[in-house]
Amino acid sequence: MSVFTKIITGEIPSYKIAEDDNFIAFLDINPNAKGHTLVVPKKEVNKLFDLTLEEYQELMTFSYRVAKALEKAVPCLRIGMSVIGLEVPHVHVHLIPLNAMADIQFAQKVKLTNDEFVALAESIANKFE
Ligand code: AMP
Repeated sequence: MSVFTKIITGEIPSYKIAEDDNFIAFLDINPNAKGHTLVVPKKEVNKLFDLTLEEYQELMTFSYRVAKALEKAVPCLRIGMSVIGLEVPHVHVHLIPLNAMADIQFAQKVKLTNDEFVALAESIANKFE
């Protein structure tokens, strides 16, 4: 069972932003930049292109809605998107508020307190439509 399935089942906590029957979005625990969010299909599939075309399109639609909320809640030049999956073998879309090229590179990290994570997740969730 992946760490993201454990988040989906509630076994481990997350800073949740949005959820429906098939997808969940929560803050990345080791963010590249403030607001770095992961969008995850509840069905545990390893690789992005192992999803059916329909599942892939639904994941992109949900990610679009989360990105719109992020853009409203977090000051940035734009939202960057990346799919990697080398660390956690459960499909996830990285949505990252960008102010510089370095923000999309997975070398630079920001530190947030629990209170900052909670406030950030709430401010993005409030913009989710
Ligand atoms: P990758 O599989 O290379 O796309 O990276 C996995 C991402 O998941 C990394 O950015 C981690 O910081 C993030 N991550 C791992 N465990 C958790 C967790 N429990 N809650 C939130 N994000 C996580």
